[in-house]
Amino acid sequence: YSTAAALDDPIKPNVSIQYDKLLINGKFVDAASGKTFRTLDPRTGDVIAHVAEGDLEDINRAVAAARKAFDEGPWPKMTAYERQKIMLKFADLVEKHNDEIAALETWDNGKPYEQSAQIEVPMFVRIFRYYAGWADKIHGLTLPADGPHHVQTLHEPIGVAGQIIPWNFPLMLFAWKVAPALACGNTVVLKTAEQTPLSALLVSKLLHEAGLPDGVLNVVSGFGPTAGAALCSHMDVDKVAFTGSTETGKIVLKLAAKSNLKQVTLELGGKSPFIVCEDADVDKAVELAHFALFFNQGQCCCAGSRTFVHEKVYDEFVEKAKTRAMKRAVGDPFKAGMEQGPQIDSEQFKKILKYISSGKESGATLETGGDRFGTKGYYIQPTVFSNVKDDMLIAKDEIFGPVQSVLKFKDIDEVIKRANNTPYGLAAGVFTKNIDTANTLMRALRAGTVWINCYDIFDAAIPIGGYKMSGIGREKGEYGLKNYLQVKAVVTPLKNP
Ligand code: ADP
Repeated sequence: YSTAAALDDPIKPNVSIQYDKLLINGKFVDAASGKTFRTLDPRTGDVIAHVAEGDLEDINRAVAAARKAFDEGPWPKMTAYERQKIMLKFADLVEKHNDEIAALETWDNGKPYEQSAQIEVPMFVRIFRYYAGWADKIHGLTLPADGPHHVQTLHEPIGVAGQIIPWNFPLMLFAWKVAPALACGNTVVLKTAEQTPLSALLVSKLLHEAGLPDGVLNVVSGFGPTAGAALCSHMDVDKVAFTGSTETGKIVLKLAAKSNLKQVTLELGGKSPFIVCEDADVDKAVELAHFALFFNQGQCCCAGSRTFVHEKVYDEFVEKAKTRAMKRAVGDPFKAGMEQGPQIDSEQFKKILKYISSGKESGATLETGGDRFGTKGYYIQPTVFSNVKDDMLIAKDEIFGPVQSVLKFKDIDEVIKRANNTPYGLAAGVFTKNIDTANTLMRALRAGTVWINCYDIFDAAIPIGGYKMSGIGREKGEYGLKNYLQVKAVVTPLKNP
């Protein structure tokens, strides 16, 4: 690692906080209650800013603004080409402000600045351009009829979309949610995660600069059980899209059902297998498995958190995985060359350390790591456990931290059963040179994404979503449009068929 001592003197971010209020109907406003909450720097636990704390009344105001913007326009009534131009102009503006947005993201979230600047903000831009491209290519069909009728479908926006996002990829998930909703002509109330409210406010300001009409996108910072639940329960919200834990996803679905049966899409947790087959080039497999688990401090719903390794290459793999984890560059995320910053907050930090203790107690072999890194903030040492068994807690629960669990397997049928033996089904990784093995595994694994000889490829056109308890629906790609469109059948009699 880099030296822990350096963490005592955190690097000053090159950005100032300009927006800390709620964005309702195109204006930054205080919460109705006047309350604020603190957003913290995960490097130190120090306060970055006091942000307006939205609650029921603010959600009501935001939904009223979104409702008006939808019902009276201009947004859904504009030509698709006009909507597209605003989205493209916005993408250009974000690109121009890349470094400032990236710095804010790293400050609030703790992820390495180089990743924010080179991956997350560019991906944000890419998603907006991608969905801007779809805006004027959405159309219905003309259908054959059994009688003298003209039959067609209109693909219409759903209405007011409530969107709730987590803290692990605040910008990317903003884009996955907001871009398709806007492209299809919906209006939005977005509730950001309480840990990371800042970057969404900055980019939303730029979206208005690009010409977004007032009320089309409203951003309410605040907590889940208050602001989030109010959004899910609102009778005037037509659709809710949620990304977060499976536990909270169940609450969201319940609230939607209890209120107005609003449509729901959910992107939830995972415990994704990463399978290293016997023919694998071990060095490459180690590197990819390392990336699959440790990327973003292990805070990925897709994290390859069960590393299954064939017994023939197991010992070599474990030794090399340990060496790789020990070399991982952990430190101040604003420092160049860092691969890993702090975890998001003290709650996650404590939870991860608890899982590490559980791994030790349950008899897994701690190869490296196993403790906090430094004495300040929420840094955790890259940790590798070997000899992990399927029934251990660390092999079953989503840890959401830099803790790799390596499990041994003997043959393909066995690993298919074990890989699928989880309530989750978000993603899976396969590492092999054998096309037959790849074909067998890609079909057998019950997961929304299977990455073969790669991992965490998140192109705009690739759909993502969960099998089983990892979610409902797909985001990104053409599939992602479905979340924000409804189909109207129109039938007219034909006088002269
Ligand atoms: P995590 O454990 O990763 O924070 P959560 O599912 O709790 O995952 O949080 C994801 C998002 O869901 C956050 O924006 C959070 O505020 C929100 N949230 C949490 N609880 C609720 C709830 N009861 N209703 C609606 N949204 C919620």
